[in-house]
Amino acid sequence: MEKVASIKTANMATKRAPSSPQELVSNLPLSERDQLKLHQRLLGTLEIGTLINRFFGWLSEQQQVTGLEYIHPVENITLSAGSPKKHKAKYMLRLEQHYFGEINITSQKRFSEQDLITHEQSLGIVIHYLKNAIDHQSLEKIAFNDALTGVMNRTALEELLPKEAERAQRYNFDLSVMMIDIDHFKTINDCIGHMGGDKVLRHVSTAIKSQLRKSDMPFRYGGDEFLLILPNTDLVGAHQAATRIMASLNKEVAEIPNCPVSPKLSIGIAAYQQGESHEDLLRRVDNALYDSKNNGRNCIS
Ligand code: GH3
Ligand code: MG
Repeated sequence: MEKVASIKTANMATKRAPSSPQELVSNLPLSERDQLKLHQRLLGTLEIGTLINRFFGWLSEQQQVTGLEYIHPVENITLSAGSPKKHKAKYMLRLEQHYFGEINITSQKRFSEQDLITHEQSLGIVIHYLKNAIDHQSLEKIAFNDALTGVMNRTALEELLPKEAERAQRYNFDLSVMMIDIDHFKTINDCIGHMGGDKVLRHVSTAIKSQLRKSDMPFRYGGDEFLLILPNTDLVGAHQAATRIMASLNKEVAEIPNCPVSPKLSIGIAAYQQGESHEDLLRRVDNALYDSKNNGRNCIS
């Protein structure tokens, strides 16, 4: 069975007119206590996955649900909790004319009318939390993103590096960082102009991204400098990644008209040492990059 409904406002379900006295008894709206419990569950997080898990937990206490899926194609979000089963109720989430994705709730058995009312009423609450979380995610994307290259910016690095260093320290995980600087970039700019230079920057960032694992994090650190956080990676692994990045950049030439440049990179790497601060780690990787520049550029230290 597939039910399709559109959740528009928090009170939509209460507008239904009961057709019989029995229905009036069985179609009781969510009690204030249950609504409060749902609010308490959802409060305190702006993480969409956490919200979905918490809502699923709450709903599982109300009725027999086996799975819940949240899809927002525009935001590229697909999240699920539990496991899908035969019977499905499908809801499109809308608030003040804005689309906030779809939620599918599944169960082993047919949903009762009361179950469906609970869905509609609780989704009328959940949608407000989802909206906040999605808005927050969009703002973070803008605030943490380098517009030119599409990698994260220094603000994001300042937020994430201390966390990764703390994780490496606490759980004794490997962690490496890599600093990359384009060689003679001023000359490149002089030769092909600032716009051409921008193209080279994008080209280099694409080469970097193409060689990273999903868990790796690239940042634009400054003008022509990139910094990479490589979780669960030791010095040998970081060296291999650096070699791959250099090779990838040499393979593909940036398509810039009348451009004689093939950018080269100087790279510094450092592995986290137990007990050191993230500032010390940053200092060491900066020194390593310095060594590469002093050793004649186009090399890894
Ligand atoms: P080195 O080999 O020692 O690194 O020499 P370099 O010429 O690359 O020197 P440096 O790294 O100090 O130069 C960075 C240059 O990057 C200076 C600045 O003009 C240029 N730059 C900074 N931001 C941008 C940008 O967004 N676009 C472009 N096109 N150029 C930029
Ligand atoms: Mg440079």
